Amino acid sequence: MLSYRHSFHAGNHADVLKHTVLTLILTALKQKEKGFFYLDTHAGVGRYSLFSAEAEKTGEYIEGIARLWERDDLPEEVSLYIAELKKINKGKLRFYAGSPLLAVQQLRPQDRALLTELHPNDYPLLRNEFARQRNVVTKRENGFQQLKSALPPKEKRGLILIDPPYELKEDYELVVKGIEEGYKRFATGVYAIWYPVVLRQHTKRIVKGLQATGIRKILQIELAVRPDSDQRGMTASGMIVINPPWQLEAQMKKILPYLTEILVPEGTGSWDVSWITPE
Ligand code: SAM
Repeated sequence: MLSYRHSFHAGNHADVLKHTVLTLILTALKQKEKGFFYLDTHAGVGRYSLFSAEAEKTGEYIEGIARLWERDDLPEEVSLYIAELKKINKGKLRFYAGSPLLAVQQLRPQDRALLTELHPNDYPLLRNEFARQRNVVTKRENGFQQLKSALPPKEKRGLILIDPPYELKEDYELVVKGIEEGYKRFATGVYAIWYPVVLRQHTKRIVKGLQATGIRKILQIELAVRPDSDQRGMTASGMIVINPPWQLEAQMKKILPYLTEILVPEGTGSWDVSWITPE
C-alpha cells in the first residue's frame, strides 16, 4: 500500500537538510571531469507546487524553505542549493524542486540519472517532468531493487540517494539490506540515506544495522527541531552518507548552526555530525 505523497511535505525542514547535503555531494562529484551516475531510488514527482491543496493543508514548507528564501546572509554552501531552486522560481517562492529535479539540473552532459518511483499517481508526473531529458531514465519500479540491478554503474562513479517514506516499518530493514546489496556490487559509490526521527528506536535500527555490515566511512548528519519524543510527529531528520566527499563533514559542521537557528527560531533545535564508523 502506497499512501505517502511527498506533495504534503515538500520543502519542509527535512527536505532542506536532505537537499542541501545532496547539492554538496553533487558539487563535489563535479570536481572531476569524468561523468558519474545518479540513482534516486524513491524519486517522488520532481516538482511540487507550494500552492497546491496538499502543500497548503500542512503548510510544512513555511517552517522550511520559506524561512531561507529571502535571507541575504546565506552561507555559500546553502546558497548553492537555493540557487537551484531560484532556477524554477521567478522571484516569489512558488515551486519546490524535489531530489530528482535538483539533481538533474546539476548534471553535466557526461553524467546520467536513473529515477525510480512506484506510486501510480506520482510516477506519470515524474516521467513527464523528465521526458525530454537525454541523460535521464525514469522507471516505475521498486527503488530497493535498483541497488541490485543498476549497480555497479558503467561510469564507476556515482551517488545513490535512498529516500523511502518509512510508512512501512520494514523500510528501516530494507534500507540496510539494500545498502549491503549495493555495496557488494559498488563499494566506491557514495550512498546517501535519508531518515526521519519519529521514534528514536527505529532510527537506531538503521544505525545498528549499518554498523553490523562492517562497512567503513559512514557519516551521520542530523538536524532536530525538537528533542526526541514518544508522541506523534517527526522531531528530527538526518542523512547517513557512506563514502562522503572529504569536505562534507566540515561543510555540515559549518552550516548546521546557521540552518538550525534559521529553521528553528523557537530555540528548541539542535544538530549533530558524527561518524557511525570512521575510515
Ligand atoms: N526523494 C524525493 C525528494 O527528495 O524530493 C522524495 C521521496 S518521498 C520521501 C518517497 C517516495 O517513495 C514516494 O513518492 C513514494 O511513492 C515512493 N515509494 C515508496 N516505496 C517505493 C519503492 N519501494 N520504490 C520506489 N518508490 C517508492
